[in-house]
Amino acid sequence: MNSWSLIYDHYEPEEEALREALCTVGNGYFCSRGAAPEATDDGTHYPGTYLAGGYNRLTTDIAGQTIENEDLVNLPNWLGLTFRIEGGDWFDLRQVKIIEFRQELDLKRGFLRRKVRFRDEQGRTTRLDQRRLVHMGNRHVAALCSNLVAEDWAGEIELCSSLDGRVINNNVERYRDLSNRHLEPIRAEQVDAESIFLKMRTCQSRIEIAMAARTRITVDDAGEKQDRQLEQEEDYIAQHSRVQVDQNREIRIEKIVTLFTSRDEAIAECGLEARKTVQRIGDFDALLQEQTWRWNQLWDRFDIKIEEKNGVERTRMILRLHIFHLLQSVSLHAMDLDIGVPARGWHGEAYRGHIFWDELFIFPLLNLRLPEITRTLLHYRSRRLPEARALARAAGYQGAMFPWQSGSNGREESQKFHLNPKSGNWLPDNSRLQRHVNAAIAYNVWQYYQVTGDMEYLAFYGAEIILEIARFWASMARWNKEIGRFEILGVMGPDEYHDAYPGADQPGLDNNAYTNIMAVWVLICAHDVLNILPDDRRRELNESLGLTEAELQKWDHISRSMRLIFHDDDIISQFEGYDQLAELDWSFYREKYGDVIRLDRVLEAAGDSPNNYKCSKQADVLMLFYLFSAEELGEIFQRLGYPFAYETIPKNIDYYIERTSHGSTLSQVVHSWVLARSNREASWELFNMALRSDIDDIQGGTTPEGIHLGAMAGTVDLIQRGSTGIETRGGVLRLNPCLPREIDNLFIRVRYRGQAIDLSITREKMTLAGRQCHVDPIKVAFNQEEHTLSGGETVTFNLLETRQ
Ligand code: BGC
Repeated sequence: MNSWSLIYDHYEPEEEALREALCTVGNGYFCSRGAAPEATDDGTHYPGTYLAGGYNRLTTDIAGQTIENEDLVNLPNWLGLTFRIEGGDWFDLRQVKIIEFRQELDLKRGFLRRKVRFRDEQGRTTRLDQRRLVHMGNRHVAALCSNLVAEDWAGEIELCSSLDGRVINNNVERYRDLSNRHLEPIRAEQVDAESIFLKMRTCQSRIEIAMAARTRITVDDAGEKQDRQLEQEEDYIAQHSRVQVDQNREIRIEKIVTLFTSRDEAIAECGLEARKTVQRIGDFDALLQEQTWRWNQLWDRFDIKIEEKNGVERTRMILRLHIFHLLQSVSLHAMDLDIGVPARGWHGEAYRGHIFWDELFIFPLLNLRLPEITRTLLHYRSRRLPEARALARAAGYQGAMFPWQSGSNGREESQKFHLNPKSGNWLPDNSRLQRHVNAAIAYNVWQYYQVTGDMEYLAFYGAEIILEIARFWASMARWNKEIGRFEILGVMGPDEYHDAYPGADQPGLDNNAYTNIMAVWVLICAHDVLNILPDDRRRELNESLGLTEAELQKWDHISRSMRLIFHDDDIISQFEGYDQLAELDWSFYREKYGDVIRLDRVLEAAGDSPNNYKCSKQADVLMLFYLFSAEELGEIFQRLGYPFAYETIPKNIDYYIERTSHGSTLSQVVHSWVLARSNREASWELFNMALRSDIDDIQGGTTPEGIHLGAMAGTVDLIQRGSTGIETRGGVLRLNPCLPREIDNLFIRVRYRGQAIDLSITREKMTLAGRQCHVDPIKVAFNQEEHTLSGGETVTFNLLETRQ
């Protein structure tokens, strides 16, 4: 075990799909699954390559209706490289005797390596060493380098290097009844003796995709005369080369690939750029060298160094794996791309590459490391404000209502029906009623501002989003004159197990506590934003949005009289009527079905529904304790005129934890967070479960369809903000460390308001060292102690003294 590598030391065909997702290499512009270069989509393997934000729409007739889905498109497979010896069968790992196997994802340097020694049916022993990368420096470049040694034979080897556009979207079994052919051919041709070219187009969104591949073959470091032949179809092109090998000689095959699309900037035409660039790029070693220092720079900003009690390397490695996949999905290459944060990375086809609320769990990590990435990802929402306004209008509301699932142009992409694989039934999907995504977007804008102090962003982009979302909530809130409070009706909270009242023919629930409180928070935030904007910008926004004094007063009124419902004394009811639901006999279901992670599927297949029970898929009420400190929540409750005793927090946590199945990987992150200070053992256990979400595919089959980016970033943030107690409010960086018992020592490098801070924490002390000399001093605080920190200065807090 080494904390910089994900290593597999034997080949396991059944695990291949999972490993492919976990060994994906990418750069934020495109990602390619870690499928074997010789593999095609054959039930064991699934080579998938995805462009960040590369969507296409197709219609299907299903369940008696015509539905349209927008999918992240599986692009042509650039990896294709295979071989056969003396005209025999093409190489297939499943057909040979494997003598040695090792697959290693090198997180430090950003490449994937596979080493295999095998003996074929004819008794020939061959050694293969393959490395691949998707380049962090030049986002249009990928490379595959294969070294092959004939250990005990000599003869002719035929190599086939291809670009394959015959692919469909076939990664998710549940979607197989839906249309899946997104690409149509434009051109396939040879560029020069070494290079081939393929151009395809998505059939509805008309994104042109151009790939060029240069394959160079050398034997023992010398160029070899090869006999190359072209194989060509309209959506496939390959070069076959025959090479004579002697015993113990090494053949090196370097395949350098370029990928451009019609959406790129600063191009004449994507095909031209792909061809031109492939001729300019250096060799694999040069690419790898640059890749290494590019990743080095990223690690310098993002690494988390922890010393664990038992010297367990695994936690460290998984945290790094999570950071690695985050940066492969959203990197600085997102900067001028119009992309959002995909819930499942660009690693597979689950959830169709859509953008949900998961950025709520992801931005805190980015904000404190490379907030430039957050800013560019927030623009994804700004650009879709017009569509969000139209969505609000169509639903009878004002302001902007962002959709639950978003893709290309920001229309609502949630599916209308989903398949329960357990029962085979297609069921209505009401998840679009999760209006709380809007609160998450406003919250993210505000948090970005709190960490960076970027008033230029807030004034010209962020404020408009927050104000328009506030307006939406205000228009959704209904005055209930009988009780003299505002209510929000007909929504879903984060817990997707509840989408309707038992037996109701209409979906939607009333007064979801999380939604109501978040709406109140947005209205308060909108007020604060208006107060801090530069005067001229406030005037401009007031004018362009037509904000009136009366409207602002209404916002204020709502923020003081929103309804919350309680039961069993101090339990915040997840929604109105929650207390009337039956208790679920958890032990019965656990005994009968083993795992109850997807209780919704189990119950539906049994003709029942989670709507009938007090059972949650994921944290809902408890999200409040994840997003707000007790102090902040206390202020909101006080404003609303509800009592709030701090002792009720653990009571609520215990109540809901007992009733949660963790059907979403986000759930463990939230629960670990809320327990971090009150029950450190349970918190650590949940943290470990969240760490295992993807690497062990704990949901049994979801990771092969894409990683869970929210849980990945969330686990890192559990250390970054959870263990350090970082809070960024009111222009002060507050810390309140509480290391888990298992960690003795923590070192991270964060950025706050332009200052880069080296932060080290032990049980005894916490040290902050400012590294930038040319930025304004920042304020840092621990307990009541506040300091000003400038570049070159160090502040140390004694942690033992204050505990005594
Ligand atoms: C969760 C959502 C989440 C989505 C995408 C669902 O299973 O319930 O909260 O946004 O997955 O990750």
